[in-house]
Amino acid sequence: MDTVTRVNLAVHGVRVDAPVRRSKGAGPSDDGHLVLDGENAALPIVADSPYVIRQGRVYEGRIDLGLSVNTVQRPQFYDLKTADGVPYEKIALLHGKDVLATTVVQTCIRYEESQRCRFCAIEESLKQGSTIAAKTPAQLAEVAEAAVRLDGVRQMVMTTGTTTGPDRGARNLVRSVRAVRQAVPGLPIQVQIEPPKTLSVIQDLKDAGAEAIGIHVESMDDELRRKWMPGKGSVPMAEYEAAWDEAVRVFGRNKVSTYLLIGLGESPDELVAGAKTLIDRGVYPFVVPMRPMLGTLARADGATQPSASVVADVTTRVGALLREAGMLGEEQGAGCAACGACSALKAAGG
Ligand code: SF4
Repeated sequence: MDTVTRVNLAVHGVRVDAPVRRSKGAGPSDDGHLVLDGENAALPIVADSPYVIRQGRVYEGRIDLGLSVNTVQRPQFYDLKTADGVPYEKIALLHGKDVLATTVVQTCIRYEESQRCRFCAIEESLKQGSTIAAKTPAQLAEVAEAAVRLDGVRQMVMTTGTTTGPDRGARNLVRSVRAVRQAVPGLPIQVQIEPPKTLSVIQDLKDAGAEAIGIHVESMDDELRRKWMPGKGSVPMAEYEAAWDEAVRVFGRNKVSTYLLIGLGESPDELVAGAKTLIDRGVYPFVVPMRPMLGTLARADGATQPSASVVADVTTRVGALLREAGMLGEEQGAGCAACGACSALKAAGG
């Protein structure tokens, strides 16, 4: 699949009834889950998109684009409940065809309006009752075991809202990873954290059994960080750099990733230059378009997503840099770069 087509689908979305969707959660995506030419693809479901899915093919108007596509079917584990009556679907979700994703703590100390990341809706899914505030290690282990056994899940992503305390939520993930690995020893897990003040917790995450780690900065520009993420942007870039370096030391090159959002205000050249500095550090820059999702402040502000041409330009150039550096997303084993659904980087060779 060429990068431009993949980007057009990511930006303009598709018309389809997708049974597996994620909405109003942590981070910048809000999509239906599909398998496009064999790869996971999280695409916006847009009623007036020029792209429509019929009988397993993608059409632009009447033109068959030559891509096979399937919607991800509702997994069997969604129909189960824990012994104390919590539906598994409120504990973790299926992303793509084979990724189990959970937000271990669904609240964030940065969620008051003056501090919140403007593209994030972490507490909205909690308010609408589609998840629970905190998932226990035992609940996560139970759901992971069922998702692997019943639905062929091959990797797991654990993210968290930021908590008080110097570990900023990482310590809780250590306990969660340990419990899941005990229940399903072969399941690769990626953890996603803010830079912890106590860097030693990165080694603890590795020792608990995590395979890869995401420390997500979203933008390399301090002014834009403060504008879009007043709370998180107050964490100095030096703390990100220290955490990335420690994570590369502990987990290895290309086992560490960060999100870079296209559309916060950096030019394509600035984004690509920022991505290059990350690649030189051994950190995989997962470039994705910013989407003003329902429930976010960005949506209320009237922010718009970047154009497909800008997304294609940045993605193509970052994909080439990743290829040159020998850093493939799928080699991370677990996490967003390994899944690839929310970015077009895989189509661009990254
Ligand atoms: S890229 Fe990350 S957020 Fe997107 S579907 Fe895959 S695991 Fe989920």
